[in-house]
Amino acid sequence: SEAPRVAVVTGSSSGIGRAVVETLAARGQRVLAVDFNPEGRAVAESAGAHFFEADLTDGAQCRGAIDTAVEAFGGVDILVNNAGIQHVADIAHFPEEKWRQILDLMLTAPFLLTQAAWPHMQRGGWGRIVNVASIHAKVASPGKAAYVSAKHGLIGLTRTAALEGGEHGITANAICPAYVRTPLVEKQIADQARLNAMDEAEVVEKIMLAGAAVKRLIEPAEVAELVAYLVSDGAAAVTGADWGIDLGWTAR
Ligand code: NAD
Repeated sequence: SEAPRVAVVTGSSSGIGRAVVETLAARGQRVLAVDFNPEGRAVAESAGAHFFEADLTDGAQCRGAIDTAVEAFGGVDILVNNAGIQHVADIAHFPEEKWRQILDLMLTAPFLLTQAAWPHMQRGGWGRIVNVASIHAKVASPGKAAYVSAKHGLIGLTRTAALEGGEHGITANAICPAYVRTPLVEKQIADQARLNAMDEAEVVEKIMLAGAAVKRLIEPAEVAELVAYLVSDGAAAVTGADWGIDLGWTAR
């Protein structure tokens, strides 16, 4: 078994982030779970992780998360940038404020967290950065300009970190899931059902899984398994890549 590492996981109160916290903690990693939703404290503590409450649209709070991990555990070895939100509106009506919030949370925060964690990873000569992107890092959908732009940008950050990290033992990878069964998606299913006057099962089948070979939603624990692989010692040669976990969607 591998030496315990220190992991910082953002967006830990729910969905994919919660599953990543539980999976890494169960494998013996020391985890700092970071979220602006205080319900994340109970989630973290029941997994044996620490919790730091932070709004990651704020740069000082991003740096505070890394400082907290260093104070609690003596360093940072693994960073999982996962916190994210969605806002659906066409470009003609997309609110500037929502655009900025999404870019701050989903692109600037991963950059600032990477920057703050970097010297700690460099010092140990070992680091793992996993950026939770999306199938929307590779293809677009109408109505999701900010989300699609942030996720495409996150691939660029991932590749740059991979190039700069190579000589320091730091890898950086992005993962690109299609629809995962989380509150973020459950809200979208409800919205689409209203918009298209369909029931929710019909929305999942006809809209969400239209392009999928495997006709079901992805479970958060399945995404966490991929993260666990990418942060392992065995994945040292795997860097700068964008990993699909998309039910065969992009095979088409
Ligand atoms: P979720 O809504 O279940 O969880 C997101 C978490 O981020 C929540 O705990 C929320 O409190 C936290 N968060 C939101 N704003 C924050 C802020 N300002 N500061 C700190 N924390 C904040 O969502 P999820 O579906 O688990 O999504 C997690 C990531 O996976 C996101 O980046 C999302 O874009 C990505 N993703 C999700 C899917 C999917 O189908 N669910 C698919 C592809 C990619």
